[in-house]
Amino acid sequence: MSTMREVDSSWKSRATIEGAGVHLKRALGPGEAKRADPFLLLDDFHSADPADYIAGFPWHPHRGIETVTYVIRGLIEHGDSIGNKGAIGSGDVQWMTAGGGILHQEMPREYSGMMQGFQLWVNLPASGKMMRPRYRDVKSSQIPEAVTADGASVKVIAGEVEGTRGPVRDLVVESEYLDVSIKPGKSFSHGVRRGNTAFAYIFEGRGGFGGNGKSFGPEDLILFEDGDTVQARAGKDGIRFLLVSGKPLREPIAWGGPIVMNTEEELDTAFRELREGTFIRGR
Ligand code: FE
Repeated sequence: MSTMREVDSSWKSRATIEGAGVHLKRALGPGEAKRADPFLLLDDFHSADPADYIAGFPWHPHRGIETVTYVIRGLIEHGDSIGNKGAIGSGDVQWMTAGGGILHQEMPREYSGMMQGFQLWVNLPASGKMMRPRYRDVKSSQIPEAVTADGASVKVIAGEVEGTRGPVRDLVVESEYLDVSIKPGKSFSHGVRRGNTAFAYIFEGRGGFGGNGKSFGPEDLILFEDGDTVQARAGKDGIRFLLVSGKPLREPIAWGGPIVMNTEEELDTAFRELREGTFIRGR
């Protein structure tokens, strides 16, 4: 018998300052990484005031993780140590595998109105931490939208909804990344493989999840219990949320800022290589 995933726990994202002074809301961070395995971090940046984000994220390293940037509204320019350069605009996604090491910068440009974007960090397994870096740049027009019979429309970035498959495939860690919108009073049900971690992060409207009568709204992160399906229903103004799930790694986490490895020795090595200028290899 198929079981519905109930709400395990929920919390609000917390105001924090990152990069060169970007004011953002952190929905997942080091304190939740074990429970959210394989996900390490989820940052939500939204502001109508460029002063909150224009300082951006100047040159910094990453190793041992993937960073997934999804821009709802706005423009983030990026450039890196292996010569990639581009811009992530409204509706675009960049799924970046840092692997053995990358140095990059991520600079939001001034946007008139409310800019909003998310960055998710997916941990890499020990076997993939030193893999060759790679990018998947996905334009908004390449992201298909699945419309369900019960009134939900889902932008499928990675994963599959009612036969519609997202463009980001062959991931190192099996995961699904959906942007779900549900019309007022309607609902959405989606199968998520048993044993995989699943969470929702709301950014518009309000609604409920599972058999819980509670109403959740913007900046609420909902972590689900195990089961086979996630069920969501929209309140009177509809709801929009990210639905993310993935297969847990169950490996030790050694976290040093933008570098996440399995052991302290690996972290020491990474920081020594940064000091000595040998962090980036094999161009
Ligand atoms: Fe970064």
